[in-house]
Amino acid sequence: MGLLIPLLGLRDALLAAPLFIGLERALPKERGQKLLRPDWVNDAAYLIFNRWFISFGTALLLLPVLAYPLVPASVRAAVGAQNEWLQVFEIVVLADFFFYIAHRAFHTVPWLWRFHAIHHSIEHMDWLAGSRVHPIDQILTKGGSFVPCIVLGFSNEALATYATLYFLHSVLLHSNVRISLGPLRWLIAAPQFHHWHHSREPEAWNKNFAGQIALFDVLFGTAYMPSGQWTKAYGIDDPVPHTYVNQLAYPFRSERNRLEIPAE
Ligand SMILES: [Zn+2]
Ligand SMILES: [Zn+2]
Repeated sequence: MGLLIPLLGLRDALLAAPLFIGLERALPKERGQKLLRPDWVNDAAYLIFNRWFISFGTALLLLPVLAYPLVPASVRAAVGAQNEWLQVFEIVVLADFFFYIAHRAFHTVPWLWRFHAIHHSIEHMDWLAGSRVHPIDQILTKGGSFVPCIVLGFSNEALATYATLYFLHSVLLHSNVRISLGPLRWLIAAPQFHHWHHSREPEAWNKNFAGQIALFDVLFGTAYMPSGQWTKAYGIDDPVPHTYVNQLAYPFRSERNRLEIPAE
């Protein structure tokens, strides 16, 4: 079974590619950006192979939690018996609240930032770019937001629907598309919101942490979206290397070693 996990990544790619490449052609943010832009092979490696690490890592996180009856069986039964779409809505709110906290911690705690710097090394935003997340980053942020929902007793169907919705939403946020949600952009995370999160411009640093519900950033005072404007440059100054294996190793190197990595 373990060997088949990358096939799930391939399935995700086949699901997302036609949908979002079509959208990028119809409503491009950057006109003329190539489909096979720099670093696309690296980001495709993330989409396909990261599944291994994430599946095993999340399973490890679940083991101790499921061993304890943290939530009374009656509560779990009541949660799982609700209408499936109501459950999906509740999961989105709950999971994104925990995602906001975890994501903000990855920006503010220096040893966590080393892992998250990989995601922020993206310099070309498109449907594939968001796959570039260090497995440790993904396990802790996804596990931190997903495990509470599993423990609370949401049904497998609702959790599976949420997982698909989250994946598609995440691909959309990084896509090279210029769509506007009007005033709803302060409620629901859209590409303009997350593109600012990846901005090189200092006024946008440490802003827009939410994964799906922009309202969390409004409530916690971290929202940044100048009306009608998009960021012009993406990336960070940290010396992040450009290939999958070197990026996996990057957070574990000493600070001196990280600074000495030659440009590839
Ligand atoms: Zn971030
Ligand atoms: Zn991102």
